[in-house]
Amino acid sequence: MRSGMKFSAWNSARDWDTYSTPGRQMAGATGAAHTARKEQGDGKMTFDLLIRGANLPDGRVNQDIAIRGARIEAVEPGITAEAREVIEAEGHLLSPPFVDPHFHMDATLSLGLPRMNVSGTLLEGIALWGELRPTLTREAVVERALRYCDLAVSKGLLAVRSHVDVSDPKLVTVEALLEVRERVADYLDLQLVAFPQDGFYRCPEAEEALVRALDMGVEVVGGIPHFERTMEDGRASVEALCRIAADRGLRVDMHCDETDDPMSRHVETLAAQTVRFGLQGRVAGSHLTSMHSMDNYYVSKLLPLMAEAEMAAIPNPLINMMLQGRHDTYPKRRGLTRIPEMLAHGIPVALGQDCVLDPWYSMGTGDLLDVAHMAVHATQMGSAVDKTVLFDAVTEVPARVMGLEGYGLAPGCHADMVLLQGRDPAEAIRLRPNRLKVIRRGKVIAETAPERSRLGLAGRPDTVDPASYAPNAAS
Ligand SMILES: [Zn+2]
Repeated sequence: MRSGMKFSAWNSARDWDTYSTPGRQMAGATGAAHTARKEQGDGKMTFDLLIRGANLPDGRVNQDIAIRGARIEAVEPGITAEAREVIEAEGHLLSPPFVDPHFHMDATLSLGLPRMNVSGTLLEGIALWGELRPTLTREAVVERALRYCDLAVSKGLLAVRSHVDVSDPKLVTVEALLEVRERVADYLDLQLVAFPQDGFYRCPEAEEALVRALDMGVEVVGGIPHFERTMEDGRASVEALCRIAADRGLRVDMHCDETDDPMSRHVETLAAQTVRFGLQGRVAGSHLTSMHSMDNYYVSKLLPLMAEAEMAAIPNPLINMMLQGRHDTYPKRRGLTRIPEMLAHGIPVALGQDCVLDPWYSMGTGDLLDVAHMAVHATQMGSAVDKTVLFDAVTEVPARVMGLEGYGLAPGCHADMVLLQGRDPAEAIRLRPNRLKVIRRGKVIAETAPERSRLGLAGRPDTVDPASYAPNAAS
């Protein structure tokens, strides 16, 4: 049986209408306003939380968002009903939460353990992780992950897809992240991918361990075909992993072609196996950096194949700007996949963070706006429209890739949102501003005071608000 019925496909009309386009949900808001007026007439406290005067990512301005309990009830201008709590947005951007579709929470905050990555390459990172892994305890992994989630929440990042290494048959990492998923569930959606870091075939125990991890409750099938011993093993691993996903009705998200080798073409196999197993709309290829170095003619054939398979792409601009091109002198390749070209073919592009302070990346902040900021530069997508697209790539699109239910700023959605000290998506990416309020299920779970600098300059203003510099034509 094709299990497409069980899981939402991100380009189906149903999902698109339900979760993804608040701007197209205005018809639903009218009924909620009617309800609000009715209850106000009865003299009752109408809403639990009312956010007044917000700009929304789709370009609507001066919108009020009314929340009852854990759900959004109305989104429209000029809601007059009373509420238990009112937040004045003052024209700041109110967004659905940030979503990181590619992370490694079992490795995060382990930088320097047991030593630093000297060459700075992906391969030394994998070797270093292999040194650290036998020493890991469940408690230490849980503690680091919980600390990371604290940071994520403070940045308005409330959903994360994390790969979890299944190469060690003891599965300490899986047990730890399953515990973390449970412990953070009230404030962060954590989705786990069974990831054979040392290779599905290259590591003799990986196949059995991956299946066991899925049995334990890991939700997505991962892979790393470019790290198998041969191209043929890589191809076979893609086929075997897609078969496992199809048999179990699961999504697939593979590290795919994270290399500068233009002959690393496992993405082609992934697209073909997606169609073969009827997995359309449930498969993502992460990284895809070999595409940067591929022949243009070949890519002109590949992109339509990916679109046909309804695959999503998950580039990770921060990490791949750091890791790729390490064997180049000059010119030095950027090692980022072809994002504008994929967008032009209708391929959903969701941007991931991949790493924060771990064997592969000594940087990282838990802020998805850092990711979008790097993407603007690395892809040269600098127009206001481009930046809006890249803002969606760290919010709406990864939510669809992960199949998050009730995501978005529309009546009926979960009351999860972030108020930023910026006016619109383009400004949010430029400034990476403070998260004034982070709201989960109708409750404020994190706050940051607005950034304001005091000036001591004769004849000049007393203070500077960085968000006040938005160009009028920004959106
Ligand atoms: Zn990764």
